[in-house]
Amino acid sequence: MIRRIKGTNDIIEDSYVWEWVEDKLRSVSKKFGFSEIRTPIFEATELFKRGVGTDTDIVQKEMYTFEDKGGRSITLRPEGTAPVMRAFVEHSLDSRGLPQKLFYIGPMFRYEKPQAGRLRQFHQYGAELIGSSRPEADVEIIVLAVEALKALGLKEFKLKINSTGCEKCRPKYKEALKEYYKPLLPKLCDDCQIRYDRNILRLLDCKKDAQYAKSAPIILDYLCDECKEHFNRVKELLDTLGVDYEVDPTIVRGLDYYTRTVFEITSTSLGAQDALAGGGRYDHLIEELGGRTTPSVGFAMGMERVMIALEREKKLPDKPSPQVYVVAVEDEQRPRALSIAFELSKEFIVETDVMGRKMKSQFKNASKLGAHYVIIVGEEEMKSEIYTLKNMFDGSQVKLSLSEIKRRLKEEKCDSNLQWH
Ligand code: AMP
Repeated sequence: MIRRIKGTNDIIEDSYVWEWVEDKLRSVSKKFGFSEIRTPIFEATELFKRGVGTDTDIVQKEMYTFEDKGGRSITLRPEGTAPVMRAFVEHSLDSRGLPQKLFYIGPMFRYEKPQAGRLRQFHQYGAELIGSSRPEADVEIIVLAVEALKALGLKEFKLKINSTGCEKCRPKYKEALKEYYKPLLPKLCDDCQIRYDRNILRLLDCKKDAQYAKSAPIILDYLCDECKEHFNRVKELLDTLGVDYEVDPTIVRGLDYYTRTVFEITSTSLGAQDALAGGGRYDHLIEELGGRTTPSVGFAMGMERVMIALEREKKLPDKPSPQVYVVAVEDEQRPRALSIAFELSKEFIVETDVMGRKMKSQFKNASKLGAHYVIIVGEEEMKSEIYTLKNMFDGSQVKLSLSEIKRRLKEEKCDSNLQWH
C-alpha cells in the first residue's frame, strides 16, 4: 500500500471543520477590507533565499527544493509573505493605490520533524497590509489576527508584542547580545552555536537555551527614538481599543525581514506547539525583492494549530447533517423519491437512498446521518401527492403536499447546522 508522506494529512472526516474555519476567516478579513490573493504553491528558490533570508532555519534546512525539468531551482512555498510581496512587485499593485490589503489561505511546506501540531504540509491563513509605515497599520493587523481567533470562538490565547528595532538601532543590540552570549557559548545547543554568528537574535527564542535568554539584554533598552515612539504608539492604540497584550522582549521571530513591531499569539490550551500566529512589520522586504521601498506589516496563522485549539476549547462546529431524507417504501416509489430529492436539493440539503436499501434500513441510515426530517413516499402518497413528513428529532408526523413541505423546511432552515452564518 502506498501511504501518505510523513508529516502530511488527508482531510476527510473533518473537512466540514476546514470549510467552517475558512468561511469565518474569509468573512472577518473581508470585514476589515482585505481581499484574497492566491499565489502559486511553488516559486523560484531565489525568492525565499532573498525574502526569508539565508540565515533562517527555513532557508537553511526546511525548504522543499528541487530542480524542475528545465533545470530551474524550485521551492514549495514555506511561507506566504514573500510570494505575496513578489506578486505585489510583479503586478505593480502599488499603482492601484496604497495601502493594499491582502489575505491568503493555503498550504505551506517545511521539512521539519513531524510531531503533534507540527507538519511538513500545513496550512496558514495570513494577511498583509502593504504600504503604511504608521503604527495604525500595525494595530490593524494585530487586531485582525485577534478578531479572527475570536470569530472562531477561541478565548484561551495571549497576545505578546515586542519591537525588534530598525537597521539603525538593531546592530548595537546585536553587539550587546554577542557580548552577553560569548562566555555562554560552550553551553549552548548545537543550533545556537551556529546561530551565534549567523543570526544572533534567534538565540532568544531557542526553547533549549531559554534559561539564558531570561537575563539577556533586552532590545527595548536599545531602541532609537523613532522606534521607541513607534512602539509606544502601537501600545497606546492597543490600549485605546481595549486589546489585551503583554510586552515580551524575547520575541524576535525567526525570519530576517522583520523591523520594529513583532507579535505572537499563543494558545494557553495547547502544549509544546502553542504558537497560533505570528507576524510583524517588514519595511524592507519589498525593496529586497526589487520593488520600491514599501513599508508593510502582516501575520500568519497556523490553521491546524487553530483547529487543535478549537477542539481543546470545545468550540468545534457540529458535523453537518441533511435537513431531509427521502424514503421510498417500495421499489416502485424509488423514481418518485429520487425526483422529490432532486427537486428539494435545489433549496435544501437532501439525502435519498441509492444503495437499494429496504425501507427500515433507509430509516436507519437517515438517523445515522442525523437527518432532521424524513419524507415517506409510499403507494398512497404516490397517488395523492400528499407525503408523510416525519420529524426525526421528536417523532411527530404530518401529511403535506410537496410545496407545503418546502415551506415547512424553509421555516426550519436555521435548524440545520450547515447554515452556520
Ligand atoms: P511562521 O510562519 O513560522 O511565523 O508560523 C506562523 C504560524 O504557522 C505558527 O504560529 C504556527 O501556528 C504555524 N506553523 C508554523 N510551522 C508549522 C508547522 N510545521 N506545522 C504546523 N503549523 C505550523
